[in-house]
Amino acid sequence: MAKKRIAVIGAGVSGLGAIKCCLDEGLEPTCFERSDDIGGLWKFQKNPSEKMPSIYKSVTINTSKEMMCFSDFPIPDHFPNYMHNCKLMDYFRMYAKHFNLLCYIRFKTKVRSVRKRPDFGVSGQWDVVVEMEGKQESLVFDGILVCSGHHTDPHLPLGSFPGIEKFEGCYFHSREYKSPEDYIGKRIIVIGIGNSGVDIAVELGRVAKQVFLSTRRGSWILHRVWDNGYPMDSSLFTRFNSFLQKILTIAAVNKYLEKTLNSRFNHAHYGLQPQHRPLSQHPTISDDLPNHIISGRVQVKPNVKEFMETDAIFDDGTVEENIDVVIFATGYSFSFPFLEDLITVTDNEVSLYKLMFPPDLEKPTLAVIGLIQPFGIILPIAELQSRWAVRVFKGLSKLPSMKTMKADIAQRKKTMEKRYVKTARHTIQVDHIEYMDEIATLVGVKPSLMLLFLSDPKLALEVFFGPCTPYQYRLQGPGKWDGARRAILTQRERIIKPLKTRITSLALRETCSFGPNYTEKAFSWQQASVNPQITR
Ligand code: FAD
Ligand code: NAP
Repeated sequence: MAKKRIAVIGAGVSGLGAIKCCLDEGLEPTCFERSDDIGGLWKFQKNPSEKMPSIYKSVTINTSKEMMCFSDFPIPDHFPNYMHNCKLMDYFRMYAKHFNLLCYIRFKTKVRSVRKRPDFGVSGQWDVVVEMEGKQESLVFDGILVCSGHHTDPHLPLGSFPGIEKFEGCYFHSREYKSPEDYIGKRIIVIGIGNSGVDIAVELGRVAKQVFLSTRRGSWILHRVWDNGYPMDSSLFTRFNSFLQKILTIAAVNKYLEKTLNSRFNHAHYGLQPQHRPLSQHPTISDDLPNHIISGRVQVKPNVKEFMETDAIFDDGTVEENIDVVIFATGYSFSFPFLEDLITVTDNEVSLYKLMFPPDLEKPTLAVIGLIQPFGIILPIAELQSRWAVRVFKGLSKLPSMKTMKADIAQRKKTMEKRYVKTARHTIQVDHIEYMDEIATLVGVKPSLMLLFLSDPKLALEVFFGPCTPYQYRLQGPGKWDGARRAILTQRERIIKPLKTRITSLALRETCSFGPNYTEKAFSWQQASVNPQITR
């Protein structure tokens, strides 16, 4: 039987994982990427085209390497835990090369439209029109994986800021911000306290005359460097903590977080204390912000009530004069123009089963990948979504009835509304382990702790108490990877390795306690693991 042909739209991290999953399941992928490279958002470009996602030059990812890697391809142990975008691109290139993905990507090719074929009810097939160098081409596919990202279209709410039209300084969305050189000695307002707003305020705080960080509701600020210097996500996202959250309730976790975050710095004293609790908002992560506030380089202000020619009046009546620049770090909106009315999005609200499948298709042959905003990490979630989607396309996993799917969508929305502050940035929130387990159960790869404790207690302990790394979803079931056990048992060493750039006598003793040449052994395993001859 001919292989099913799958169109993958976008070659960012979601698209790369999707191509690999198609190949693993014996499908024939063709990936269309409008730009000339892989990596999507993470490929820094000084002058990106209007429709491309775009980052500032200094962006360092907020999620740590062991938690964010592809599940069968650990990040080299000498790479830092939190990687600069260049290092991320190195890793994505290694992944694409290792699994030979590049030959499935058609670069500089934009997907113009995706429409059901006339016999869709029987075939489930799609007509896809793509455009390359001005020439259009029509192609037929058996399935579609939409990996087009959701941080491309800036949300610029100018209507909420009276007087902005008469403001004589310059203003723009954070997507346009690239680097600090042009802002030396300026007086700057950054609006929005998401990760873009805080990163940019901190970076500009080093060179500007004064930075004001304006927020309408404040935020809890988490930090990357958690207890004992371990990465925050690998410390918090463990099955043990997830279990505790279930039995102790979200309120107890909020209390713990508030205490921990306030003991680092008092959020009320620093003008950041919100009305809501930590788990009710997408996390803002910054180790540097409190340093900038305490040294006066960044001043926290409430929302801007009105702009004048050169000044800004804030909600509390205070006025800041002679403002040169306003940066709207006010987030993103998303849409799927090439899908026409197949998926409608209103104020970032979308109705997709498990945030992936339109519930009313006659045949489940289209899925959206990576359309999630996790209290966690997008990459491994997107990869797992693709693993499930391709099995649905092949008929190995069945979707429930339309009615059941719609009920599930409604329930998810209700739960989200109950937990999160109502705002356009909280429409596709998921909790990392909970959502990974939900999808993993559908794929048949959720690790069975009970069996593990009986058969391999050492591994079971690390799976339960250690960081819930993506390798856990390669221990069993379809797509099982022989290297998964070892990857889990050596994950802590890969976290520590890049930190030990000066070997202290204490560090040496610790290394020895793992056995002679432990680090070298872990490293040579790492080298072997990227060699298909040895492990695959
Ligand atoms: P993208 O990276 O946006 O890739 C989509 C690709 O699809 C692009 O290459 C685009 O050209 C292509 N495309 C779109 N439409 C078409 C079309 N019609 N035809 C052909 N090609 C098309 N997430 C985390 O988990 N951790 C982080 O720390 C983190 N940091 C972030 C920092 C910033 C500044 C921002 C803005 C986001 C961050 N994110 C983070 C979220 C980020 O979106 C994901 O990390 C990740 O980049 C999503 O990958 P993606 O492949 O889904 O989308
Ligand atoms: P975001 O998380 O959506 O934050 C937008 C901010 O703007 C929020 O504080 C929001 O406040 C505010 N805002 C929106 N509309 C407003 C309005 N009309 N008036 C006043 N304030 C308004 O956007 P982002 O910071 O660009 O982040 C986007 C994604 O990229 C997130 O997933 C983030 O984690 C990620 N990111 C990561 C890094 C990193 O890894 N280093 C860096 C940057 C971004 P409300 O909460 O009140 O709506």
